[in-house]
Amino acid sequence: MTDGKNGPRWVTETLHEEGGLRTSYRADRVLFEEGTEHQHLVIFDNPTFGRMMTLDGATQVTERDEFVYHEMMTHVPVLAHGNVKKLLIIGGGDGGILREAARHKGIEKITMVEIDPAVTDFSKSHLPMISAGAFGDPRLELVFADGSKFVEGEGETYDVIIVDSTDPVGPGAVLFEESFYRNARGRLTEGGIMVTQNGVPFLQPAELASTISKFHRLFKVCSCYLATIPTYVGGPMAMGIGTDDEFAKAVTVEALEHRFAAAGFKTRYYTPEVHKAAFALPAYVREIVDAA
Ligand code: SAM
Repeated sequence: MTDGKNGPRWVTETLHEEGGLRTSYRADRVLFEEGTEHQHLVIFDNPTFGRMMTLDGATQVTERDEFVYHEMMTHVPVLAHGNVKKLLIIGGGDGGILREAARHKGIEKITMVEIDPAVTDFSKSHLPMISAGAFGDPRLELVFADGSKFVEGEGETYDVIIVDSTDPVGPGAVLFEESFYRNARGRLTEGGIMVTQNGVPFLQPAELASTISKFHRLFKVCSCYLATIPTYVGGPMAMGIGTDDEFAKAVTVEALEHRFAAAGFKTRYYTPEVHKAAFALPAYVREIVDAA
């Protein structure tokens, strides 16, 4: 970040060091900047994206475009499943996935396992619009722990597991390891669905390939779906999905429309048509998935 003494302050995110690619955001107001026990956290205001949060220099969430990511990470697995009672969020400290999950009144219990209490604390105080009060939902069990440790061994099982992690650096790296995926899979109910954030395949093909190759060994059905999130530069972002349930993959638009109407809330990005279309992969992404 520039110090702002000689003009405006800019927060620069290195997207691809070897590829010579950085993105800068003007920080008109820096609300918080500090090293937490786990990572470097900055919260600031940008005229285009509103309030933004970065962790270790990588954009995690912005006020203006977060709806795309949170709706697609949540409603795709929940509505593909069709009868989610228990949902596990790994990471997700800002509360955006929690907010979207809480809109499904049929979900009886939401467990969220976040490694860094500071992310949750500062999101609550500086980004309250992201969680929109969902931290107060009586169905929430909030655990501060390493998600990879949480899923080790026997324990409660879940219909959907959403891995809302940082990229595979720092504390988030363990959430891309096969042992984590295997343990998490062991915590799915029969027909359960797991989704992961896998970066932007145009810039980070290895991130998607790595998860899909592991999912191939663990799940009967695996693929990825796409969503375009403006702050994740370089084209659409990939979300990995693994399940043993062929029906979840084959779910029709009509079935999704029925489930979405029954859920009874409005979205800004997710629609049943977008849900189905998100699985149509451009050839360069299909190649990554097929080669994995
Ligand atoms: N949407 C963001 C993105 O991909 O740019 C990611 C969202 S952010 C909420 C990811 C969260 O994962 C952070 O709050 C971080 O603290 C948490 N996290 C990182 N490693 C973790 C781990 N091992 N266990 C649980 N949470 C972790």
